Amino acid sequence: MIQLIFSDTIIPFNSDENEIITFLETEHIVEGYEEISNDIGSMKDLTEEEIAKHHNYANMTAYLKKLAEEFPELCTLNSIGKSVEGRELWVLVISKNPKHHIPGKPEFKYVANMHGNEVFGREALLRLAKLLLINYGSNEYLTRLVDTTRIHIMPSMNPDGYERAREGDQMVGPGRDNANGIDLNRNFPKRKIGAPVQVQPETLRIMEWSKSVPFVLSANLHGGTNIVNYPFDDFQHGRSRTGDHDIFVTLAYSYARAHSNMYKRGMRCAGNGGEDFSDPPKGITNGAEWYEVSGGMQDWMYLVPGCFEITIETNCAKFPWAKELPQFWNDHKFALIRYMDLIHHTIHGFILDEQTGKGIANATISVNSRGKILKSYEYGDYWRLITPGTYEVTFDHLHYYPVTKTVTITTDSPSFFLNVTLTPHSYQTHSHQSTTDSIASPINNSQPNSNPIFVSIFALISLVLLKF
Ligand SMILES: [Zn+2]
Repeated sequence: MIQLIFSDTIIPFNSDENEIITFLETEHIVEGYEEISNDIGSMKDLTEEEIAKHHNYANMTAYLKKLAEEFPELCTLNSIGKSVEGRELWVLVISKNPKHHIPGKPEFKYVANMHGNEVFGREALLRLAKLLLINYGSNEYLTRLVDTTRIHIMPSMNPDGYERAREGDQMVGPGRDNANGIDLNRNFPKRKIGAPVQVQPETLRIMEWSKSVPFVLSANLHGGTNIVNYPFDDFQHGRSRTGDHDIFVTLAYSYARAHSNMYKRGMRCAGNGGEDFSDPPKGITNGAEWYEVSGGMQDWMYLVPGCFEITIETNCAKFPWAKELPQFWNDHKFALIRYMDLIHHTIHGFILDEQTGKGIANATISVNSRGKILKSYEYGDYWRLITPGTYEVTFDHLHYYPVTKTVTITTDSPSFFLNVTLTPHSYQTHSHQSTTDSIASPINNSQPNSNPIFVSIFALISLVLLKF
């Protein structure tokens, strides 16, 4: 069995959730509502009047356009395409320099309202966008988040379904599906062999978008209960856990723990006519162990573009009454902020060509021969979500010699900047083996430690040795 080393503790890979959660609590890797509130400090919030209202398509569109007009330096409003009935699939991008990808800056996304009658996520994202913008420049925590992250906010993936939905719907009202009557969270290409699905316009636009932007982390907001679930949503060969199980448990539990009550034991939506499944006690569950979904979005995000995504069930009622929104907003706001910040818990940097110094796109990044093998983006930039431990990280590309680095991530330094230089096959004509060297200290927001001199010396030594 592969084992991960967490500081002094060894936790078996694929250990169950409880062991990982105990570790996260003991090592103080996760924080609760009050602690995060203190970390963020004083911030401007929306008024109760602003929060206690729903936004239909026309109002949502006006709200987003107004933000884009008021904060042109910090956000830009895009549409990634149209729904079946021709409504725009709006995405508000928030960052310092929001219009384009900045090499090295990670991309985050929140998508809500995929099921048109599950609406709190949609309202939460509208408020979150405004919260980030009105606090920029005055709240240090939120300013740093906006400066260092490109944040994509899609309040509604299914605007057609929303227009059919009804306020007060607890569980079974109309509007869940898109205008063609298709459940979008069963509409992505499946891992399992089955009847081919008719991929819907909304699904297709999300797939194209997610392949065009190097998303590192995301969450998909649903409603109907109060829990986070993580991939896989389906079983294959009797298994439903990914090779990055510890990371998904950490992501999911970080959200649940930051919520005012999601992490607490107890019946979640009893008496609400709600989904009363087995009631996972810590507020998180593996998707398929809860109930199986094939063709869901989170599985596809992980498997195809390599974006780590969790699914957050925000509250019991599908379409709560407007007067209930302030309470839900208070429950979720710190968790929504905290989760975005986890995008910085990565090994990240640039993969560079030794000869030209330019970034190498599509180089692979693999960790301890397990979990998802990710690829570098256009500028050679890469991000690999990680939890505390010591790892062998291998960087490889068809036209280059692979390099393996040993990286130690600690609880105190969850962000590790690592530039890597690869030697092209064409540059070195003699045989060349993969190199392994250790990086002594974690680097947090410091200078790149690209080391072409080391590579050159290594190449020289190799050449001398080969002569003998
Ligand atoms: Zn849903």
